[in-house]
Amino acid sequence: MPRRTHWFKRERIRDVKTAGCGQCAQASRSAGGARSTRRRADAGRFASHRGTGFALGEKTCDMARSPTRSHARAAGFAGYQDIGPPLRISDEARSMIKHAILGLMLFCLSPLALAQDEVFDVHVHLWHGEKSLKEYYAQLEAEHQPVARHSGIYMAIKGETQENRRKNDELIALSKRYPKLMPIASVHPLDGQVAIDELKRLAGLGVKAIKLHPHTQRFDITDPQVRALCKLAGELGVAVLFDNFNIVPGDNQNLFNLAVGLPKTQFIFAHMGGLDFRFWNSLFLARTAKDFFFDNIHFDISATVALVADSPVEPEFVWTIRNVGIDNVMLGSDYPQLSLKQAGDALEKLDLSAEEKRKIRWGNANKLFGGKR
Ligand SMILES: [Zn+2]
Repeated sequence: MPRRTHWFKRERIRDVKTAGCGQCAQASRSAGGARSTRRRADAGRFASHRGTGFALGEKTCDMARSPTRSHARAAGFAGYQDIGPPLRISDEARSMIKHAILGLMLFCLSPLALAQDEVFDVHVHLWHGEKSLKEYYAQLEAEHQPVARHSGIYMAIKGETQENRRKNDELIALSKRYPKLMPIASVHPLDGQVAIDELKRLAGLGVKAIKLHPHTQRFDITDPQVRALCKLAGELGVAVLFDNFNIVPGDNQNLFNLAVGLPKTQFIFAHMGGLDFRFWNSLFLARTAKDFFFDNIHFDISATVALVADSPVEPEFVWTIRNVGIDNVMLGSDYPQLSLKQAGDALEKLDLSAEEKRKIRWGNANKLFGGKR
């Protein structure tokens, strides 16, 4: 039932007391709002009150149950000021407002709010350098997506060694001007010695990761040159972000073999296998084999998370995330194909704890890539 309340200036309550109105206490209720008036009524001359009305002595005022402006006038309080039309707030609405205010207070103090900007988007393609970066930032702002760090990916083209080097330098230069940007440079594994030299140069410039894409760059994961390049990356402390959407048949198996053969190289398998993610549950068992598996396989769940959230396979995806290791999974958008908001919203839907999500959103990538903001 809606509760009717009139709002009058507070001085009316003083008038009520000094005037010693014996008619009813309802005007005082109108004057100060039910709750405050009850306290005042208790403290003042209104000896008792009950329910929604007030009583003076033994006499209960009937009109107190349906207060009106005219009643306040009728009560004889000269000079009362009506400061607005009746405000009707239902009990449900009151309760909702109370909870909203309480929730806001709790949120402001919660670790989630404090960590609101702690997002590391590990999968961002900057196809057109600074132009793409500005567009990415504009999208983040438009969609209210605070980001503490993010990657910027380039993918080398076979044989175009000068252009690849120029693009890598462009990316590194951008990261100096935009401190949130972590460059993920690239070489083409089939460019032989040029690729080896470029990788060494990149490591010397502080690059922490390179991107390889067997489908787009058109190479075979099992090629010995790929292995040699990845081995060197491990020795130089450069992680390898490898596409793993299983566009190329056998991706999962080939990448698994590559990673277990190169335990010093940190691999990040992008998209966690796409819809073939189920394969990676085998890591749970691989860890139990003595001297076989090393903890050098990580995943980003870019694109795939947006696909599986709210899908029939969502619980399996969550099960896989835990089996590959909650400390080895990172959030990425795969911008510009998908936005960070899509990735973040999808992650929120997964049945993972707040701490697990925080690791995926920020902690794991921050740890892998050197722990600086
Ligand atoms: Zn991508």
